[in-house]
Amino acid sequence: MAKRDYYEVLGVAKNAGKAEIKKAYHKLALKYHPDRNPGDAEAEGKFKEAADAYSILSDDDKRKQYDTYGHAGNGFPGGGFSNVEDIFSAFSEIFGGSSVFGDFFGGAARSRSRGRRGASLRCTIELEFSDPVENTQKTITIRKAETCDTCSGSGAKPGTKPDHCPQCNGAGVVMTSAGFFSMRSTCPRCAGRGEVISDPCTPCGGTGRVLKDKEIALKLPAGIEDGMTLRVGGEGESGENRGPAGDLLCDVHVKPHPLFKRAGADVYLELPVGFAQAALGAKLEVPTLRGRADLKVQRGTQAGTVTRMKGEGFPRLDGHGRGDQLVEIVIEVPQKLTKEQEKLLREFAETEEQNISPERKSFLDKVKKLISK
Ligand SMILES: [Zn+2]
Ligand SMILES: [Zn+2]
Repeated sequence: MAKRDYYEVLGVAKNAGKAEIKKAYHKLALKYHPDRNPGDAEAEGKFKEAADAYSILSDDDKRKQYDTYGHAGNGFPGGGFSNVEDIFSAFSEIFGGSSVFGDFFGGAARSRSRGRRGASLRCTIELEFSDPVENTQKTITIRKAETCDTCSGSGAKPGTKPDHCPQCNGAGVVMTSAGFFSMRSTCPRCAGRGEVISDPCTPCGGTGRVLKDKEIALKLPAGIEDGMTLRVGGEGESGENRGPAGDLLCDVHVKPHPLFKRAGADVYLELPVGFAQAALGAKLEVPTLRGRADLKVQRGTQAGTVTRMKGEGFPRLDGHGRGDQLVEIVIEVPQKLTKEQEKLLREFAETEEQNISPERKSFLDKVKKLISK
């Protein structure tokens, strides 16, 4: 199912400010509001699409994630709005409070926004260093408040129903008048639910929610990095009074590697090379994220030389290719020599003194100058 770009849905530019995004959403929500388009499935679809887009673009974190990953970053199970009630609950400040919606849809919108959104949950997932080489899936188990099966979330004992709150008559709000003013406030008896439960459900004690262990399959995109947070829409705690569920925020920890270090999509490796190999050149096998590859050490390679192995890094999160593997040459000087090696090296040193290389000469010249000052 192809999803339209959220900026396109709201008809705003990529760099649109918060106020502009809110205004654009107001306009669309007014146009496609179910109360104005009863029984019109297309309008309802547009109403949900606009709400989806607004839920992402109005939230700094989600917007950033969307800008980086596109729909892939939000395409996790439970994401998006499945019904209109959830939209009223999630944006109750828009549907209930704003003067625009207050005037147009005051009563209906307000009575629909009683459900409270569930809390967001946070978890941590630990990955092996090379896991982000490809898309992976990890299953985690979290304990969270879920809708009670016994009462389907109503909180009332099966066979009974919550009663209309006698104090607010089911409205969830009470009016108090003080002189010329009349004030609206949340009903203290039912805490705004509009219902009271006289015969509570046993397993959940009338709250409509119980703690359950739930297995969640996390989809980890290739290239994900240590310190990033994955948002799984709708996998937080269930909402109260049939409100929408919160989100699950999963912090990603990537274990360090004994050989590799990572910077973005690139991978660094220090490669020890014998000094004879560095001087004469060699073809060496080096470890990579995906196995091994050959690396040519050029004749006369100096310590600290960095060779770039194209495309041997991690995939880029935006889907555009891969990073590189950067190999830094570390020249190893032997600490122990056999008699034979010592003899050869002494002979070599003698030839070197007779035949000093230009670089060495200029260095020695500099040292001499320093000393003679
Ligand atoms: Zn229950
Ligand atoms: Zn009440």
